[in-house]
Amino acid sequence: MTAFHWHDHHFINRHPALDFANMVVWRNRPERREDRGQSSENLRGWANYAGLKPPSSGVAECTAVREAIDGYFRSGTGWPQLVALYAETLKDDRDPFLNTVLHSAIGLAFSPEKQRVRVCGNCGWLFIDRTRNANKRWCTADICGSRAKARRYYEKKRQASPSSPPSKI
Ligand SMILES: [Zn+2]
Repeated sequence: MTAFHWHDHHFINRHPALDFANMVVWRNRPERREDRGQSSENLRGWANYAGLKPPSSGVAECTAVREAIDGYFRSGTGWPQLVALYAETLKDDRDPFLNTVLHSAIGLAFSPEKQRVRVCGNCGWLFIDRTRNANKRWCTADICGSRAKARRYYEKKRQASPSSPPSKI
């Protein structure tokens, strides 16, 4: 497996917990779902880009933490599990990487910003809506916002001409 190349836009929230959850893209579309956290190389690369210590836990442990974070901020489930995972990392300072990520998750859960966590209508990423009106629908206007607009445009066109073949977008 070749290493995934991380870029700034993979860290849209500048928030370790949510950006960590976003190692999975297209969660809302099973046929496109892509998990970039399934190798220790990718996890190390992610930690390095985020300026964190490399994880000392394995892929399975990191995935369990990531999915607990995602579940809580996406659908409000699994709070006891999230707290238990956090408590676990505090024992003997087991994994500073997971501790930092979970610490930021717990911090966000208790902050007013929690009310602003949204799911992108296009790619399914979690993002913090920091706009004044709190009406943001896409994680990034230039990528996901414009793609969603293009999709609506083509869907409308398709409906207008039923004889044309279904598009594959
Ligand atoms: Zn998006």
